[in-house]
Amino acid sequence: MPDSALEAHASPQTLKLGQRLLVLVEGELARLPPRERARLTIWQENRTRAALGDLMSLLAVISSFKVALVLTGVWPAGLVPWAHGIALICVLLGRWGYAYARGLGIESIAAMLFLLGLITILADPAPLWWIEQPALTLGWMWLLATLGIPLLARLASVVVFCGLLIAAAVIFFLMDPIPGRATFGILLYLLVSIAGGLFLRRLRSDMSLHYRRSNESVTLAANTDALTGLPNRRGWREQAPLLLAEHATGNKPLSLLFIDLDHFKQRNDLHGHAAGDETLHRVGQLLGERLAAGMAARLGGEEFVCLLPGLDEHAAVQFAQSLREALAQDADPLTFSGGVAQWRPGEDLTELLARGDAAMYRAKQAGRDCVQTAD
Ligand code: GH3
Ligand code: MG
Ligand code: MG
Repeated sequence: MPDSALEAHASPQTLKLGQRLLVLVEGELARLPPRERARLTIWQENRTRAALGDLMSLLAVISSFKVALVLTGVWPAGLVPWAHGIALICVLLGRWGYAYARGLGIESIAAMLFLLGLITILADPAPLWWIEQPALTLGWMWLLATLGIPLLARLASVVVFCGLLIAAAVIFFLMDPIPGRATFGILLYLLVSIAGGLFLRRLRSDMSLHYRRSNESVTLAANTDALTGLPNRRGWREQAPLLLAEHATGNKPLSLLFIDLDHFKQRNDLHGHAAGDETLHRVGQLLGERLAAGMAARLGGEEFVCLLPGLDEHAAVQFAQSLREALAQDADPLTFSGGVAQWRPGEDLTELLARGDAAMYRAKQAGRDCVQTAD
């Protein structure tokens, strides 16, 4: 997306710096309109959920090991052993209750419980180690920053997560101050880890967006007829049932128009295949222009179909007649045989299409260049 789209959403000048920062952290996502950004964030969240769950499980296992060592007296701990037990319960509850909490819309509480327990267990200041090797004790936080941040899809989650890590480090220094220069060095390491995590997150986000875009463009190409730009049979099969289902819930009419160009083989033989292609393109263009709602597709060869929401049989016939008139006025007039079928409640798309096709066939039998309605 060009930069102008970003500018469009950063109207007041004061927002510009904020927008720039957002682009730095969010990458491609920040350049999208807010609604699209929210939609893609949810998509990314769904795609990274499994990895996030695996990371949480791994950290829960590591925490369990450490707590076992603390409780058996092998690992010297700063906190009393039972505090480790409580922290482990928080970790396990947070991890295994996460899916359940998600169903209730309170997953952030589960995540917070998990994180608080985890930080307590992993970074518990063992009296001697902490003073002598503060960087080693707090190394867990750097690991959490570089592993956890890339898997968080929501920016708000990242902010809370980083805030917790920094708060935990600050609490350590308040509990047991260590020489000023070491404090500075440790905080610097933590900030570098957070920056690294943010960088990896942006890379992951940009790559997944790129994957999604190329996936979408491949699907679009596969569903589109290259000659007319209309959906092809595959596109029709994907989109038409959705349109029908959407309409089936209301009480407005819906009709189908089946079109088969008359004597098209002859036209090809007479004017050449390229001229035939040009005609098909023209028909596609006309259908695209005339359709106020609904969809038109090229089912194959010289056969087209339109789904016309809001139009009953009579209105659909009128629509077909207006197409016939438009094509008759062309320099090289073209005729078609049309079949109209109004949707009946309970009818599926295959049945509706079959009735439209049968009506079109009757139009052929009636001498072509006319529109017939289905039984
Ligand atoms: P009818 O009035 O009975 O429908 O006769 P028709 O000639 O239109 O029908 P028929 O099914 O016999 O022939 C369809 C022709 O459409 C045959 C084929 O050469 C032509 N056709 C199919 N696809 C294309 C295409 O992509 N481009 C061109 N130029 N012609 C195509
Ligand atoms: Mg045909
Ligand atoms: Mg034909």
